[in-house]
Amino acid sequence: MRDSPLATTPGKLLDMTGKKGLVIGIANEHSLAWAAARNFHAAGADLAVTYLNDKARPYVEPLVAAIDAPILLPCDVAQDGQLEGVFDTITRIWGQLDFVLHAVAWSPAEDLRGRLTDCSADGFAQAMLVSCHSFIRTAKLAELLMGAGGSLMTLSFLGAERVVDHYGIMGPVKAALESSVRYLAHDLGSGSIRVNAISAGAVRTRAASGIQHFDELISETERKSPLRRTVTADEIGRAALLLASNYTTAITGEIIHVDAGFHVNGMVFH
Ligand code: NAD
Repeated sequence: MRDSPLATTPGKLLDMTGKKGLVIGIANEHSLAWAAARNFHAAGADLAVTYLNDKARPYVEPLVAAIDAPILLPCDVAQDGQLEGVFDTITRIWGQLDFVLHAVAWSPAEDLRGRLTDCSADGFAQAMLVSCHSFIRTAKLAELLMGAGGSLMTLSFLGAERVVDHYGIMGPVKAALESSVRYLAHDLGSGSIRVNAISAGAVRTRAASGIQHFDELISETERKSPLRRTVTADEIGRAALLLASNYTTAITGEIIHVDAGFHVNGMVFH
């Protein structure tokens, strides 16, 4: 499926000129965070971007160069001090922040592959730390830079609400993330900071390749979703741009499904 030309039309619909945003979670050109970063950049925003570690850096660096992101920093949220280091640098260079996209998820492979009953306490704790608690920490740090209000976004999946075969441990983890979105929206709302999640449809990415039978999930989506297709990364990226912008200043605590409508299905016979 082709990406929309909108992504490469600077400032066509939403003007984010002068807005400063942080994007956490670009691994490569297939990442949903990269699609969002392209859209933020096309609308005129300045971006700080992170990469996981030295192994990931060569994949992220050329992408970041293409969008002229002035800040590129390592950030493994499981390593003490790295997330704080990112915010220290942003404080020093920009002294403010308008939006953050958190597109981070991870679980030990052995805990992801089995039944939920088989997951280890340690694996569950690690998955929660990286995929959920890192968003709570991000919100705490971002609040200090969002004196004029802001938008915090994270990415979730239908498996948080319903059983999706093979999503396993990530179902309860994403459910905790979605609940955190609501509590963070409550906590930060008085400072005009909005907190939302995009519940994305299935897109082939590195993270998705860890889910068994992911191709079947895509074909089920194409067969059963109201739009009879899955989504593109760019469609997720454009929704993120909308949530970052002042077109959505009254939307907070929301889980927005950008999934070609797949979530409305009960039983579908075709
Ligand atoms: P991706 O592999 O491109 O992105 C996942 C990112 O998480 C990577 O950049 C990786 O470096 C990062 N990450 C993992 N552990 C980390 C850590 N310890 N510290 C910092 N970063 C870490 O895959 P994606 O599909 O673009 O995933 C982005 C988000 O979208 C995830 O939250 C995922 O659950 C969610 N999502 C994806 C789909 C899909 O079908 N691809 C659907 C719904 C939601």
